[in-house]
Amino acid sequence: MIDMRSDTVTRPTPGMKEAMLRAPLGDDVFGEDPAVNELQEKAAALFGMEAALFCPSGTMTNQIALKVHTNPLDELICDIRSHIYQYEAGGYAFHSGIAVKLIHSEQGILSPADIEKNINPDDIHKARTRLVSLENTVNKGGGNYYTLEEMQALSASCRAHGLRLHLDGARIFNALVASGDRPGGIGPLFDSISVCLSKGLGAPVGSLLLGSRDFIKEALRFRKVMGGGMRQAGMLAAAGIYALDHHVERLKEDHERAARLAAALEQLDYVESLLPVHTNIVVFTLRPSINPAAYLEMLKSEGLLAVSFGGQAVRLVTHLDLREEDIERAIEILGKISA
Ligand SMILES: *Cc1c(COP(=O)(O)O)cnc(C)c1O
Repeated sequence: MIDMRSDTVTRPTPGMKEAMLRAPLGDDVFGEDPAVNELQEKAAALFGMEAALFCPSGTMTNQIALKVHTNPLDELICDIRSHIYQYEAGGYAFHSGIAVKLIHSEQGILSPADIEKNINPDDIHKARTRLVSLENTVNKGGGNYYTLEEMQALSASCRAHGLRLHLDGARIFNALVASGDRPGGIGPLFDSISVCLSKGLGAPVGSLLLGSRDFIKEALRFRKVMGGGMRQAGMLAAAGIYALDHHVERLKEDHERAARLAAALEQLDYVESLLPVHTNIVVFTLRPSINPAAYLEMLKSEGLLAVSFGGQAVRLVTHLDLREEDIERAIEILGKISA
């Protein structure tokens, strides 16, 4: 099976497994796991932030960030496509007791005006606008990304209005590799950043939450109460260190392959529309006459796995575990269905 459902399906490479087995272990709830500490320090330095916290998932790092930044009755501004809103089971309401103001932007990319227009007045009838969350790359936007200049403008706007700014950077390295920007340039723009190691970077488990020392100290309490304190987590952290050292630059290859898949899809009659492909995510819609579930079954019977992305939309994602012949075969399978 050629699995293009997500970049989370990758398995550790032999080199990564070796690094995991070599990890010196300690109890991270006591702060004594050397690899976890190394990963946290490495990531914080890379992004130009003071501290970092290793967590089991990106959902947890996002949810902890919302919790630390807000009080109940506060309001979060984010795009309607945000993972935080769409795919975290309503956790913003459950864990943090906050309201959310959804922006219907162009493909998930917010502008300073989107934020400024949606700040509530100081009025007891209104939730208190406290936090803005950006997503980069935008999963539901088809993997499009913010440039450094766009993030700088948003950061300046949030600071001017006294709002905190969180980045859901599950795929931030895809954005950075595509834009050519450096991670050290973006850390100072945000109050917190969440980074997934288990997506395109190819680690089996784990996400990092980055922020100031005080922010991470609070985050540690909430990781504890959410049950996310892990003990000899160094085997997982070692995979994360390996991923940061070896799997960042190669994301270019995933992007180039996604562009090739898109070019092939563009030629097919059954494809109604295709979002512009900027990184490793390809989102297209099927003509109304085609049943998406039946289409996905047909792909599967030919050996290609994809996911439904709501309505007529289908998503394909490129990643570390795909070989060159998988891309060629996938293009063949996609074309065969139309014939
Ligand atoms: C995958 C993802 C997350 C976190 O997902 P987990 O599966 O909980 O690690 C957060 N935001 C975005 C945009 C994602 O794609």
